[in-house]
Amino acid sequence: MPELPEVETVRRGLQLALAGDAIVAVEVLRDASIAYPSVEDFVAGLPGHKFGQVIRRGKYLLIELDRGAGLACHLRMSGRLLVRNSQTETKLKSRGKTNPPKVSPLKTKVQTGSSDKQEPRFLRVRIMLASGRELHFEDMRVFGRLWLKPKGMTFEEVIPSLAKLGVEPLESLTSAHLANAFKGKIQAVKTALLDQNILAGVGNIYADESLFLSGIHPTIPASEVNQEQLVRLVENVRSVLSRAIESGGSTLRDYTDSNGVNGNYQNLAWVYGREGELCRQCSTVIERIKLNGRSSHFCIQCQPLKRQPKKQISAKTVSTTRKQSKK
Ligand SMILES: [Zn+2]
Repeated sequence: MPELPEVETVRRGLQLALAGDAIVAVEVLRDASIAYPSVEDFVAGLPGHKFGQVIRRGKYLLIELDRGAGLACHLRMSGRLLVRNSQTETKLKSRGKTNPPKVSPLKTKVQTGSSDKQEPRFLRVRIMLASGRELHFEDMRVFGRLWLKPKGMTFEEVIPSLAKLGVEPLESLTSAHLANAFKGKIQAVKTALLDQNILAGVGNIYADESLFLSGIHPTIPASEVNQEQLVRLVENVRSVLSRAIESGGSTLRDYTDSNGVNGNYQNLAWVYGREGELCRQCSTVIERIKLNGRSSHFCIQCQPLKRQPKKQISAKTVSTTRKQSKK
């Protein structure tokens, strides 16, 4: 699922790819992908508009259009927003490094019969651009949504949940904000970190990583995280997200062919997706538990349940608790 760094990577790609272009026509292949307004108004309202700035708010992409309009997108589980060359061009082009459309030419022929169109399999909305290219919204699971913001309305009016979003972790997050948000909260700190009304855009991977780097066990009640830990947590949320954006940046060049999701981070992860492997810090086996339905990965040595002064975690302690088993 795309998280903040992946959405930011998509934002940067779109900003570069769409600059100076305009919308000439729109085709909606799946009505459910349009959240606002009606499909008819969406199709009628977009053509003629030029692209402006692309903004990210949490995991929402907000594309400003000229004359006060806007186009918003939430990718949710499997959405992808891609700038593609026209179909015939895509078909002819076969650069070694890039991914071909998911449907093989043979299969397409069988499926489409007389039509010679070769469409991406999960194409839900096609936006034809003045440059001859197309902006595609592809979405296998159909949870992703697009909104057209008409002139005279704000994005917050069109997408009510946008107004409730918490602070941007890379911009206005402070330990005071977290202290205030966590006050009296008995829910696990990991669950609180995922609350989009507290922090916008922090998802499962980066919550696990930030908690590890801060030495905070994911199940500790949010209200019990102390001031010193909160300061560390803020620093680590920022650094983990920045690092992931940097590693996602490497896919920018191939943006029009990339799937918009940064898979590079996994190789750098401290705990996420590393159940049964050894902690990179102390060689204890990484554990995974379910917390509020989400997988949580942690190292019990580096993230003790009972907080202990750092001095007590000596080399001796580490070696006696070290487990050699590996999956
Ligand atoms: Zn460890």
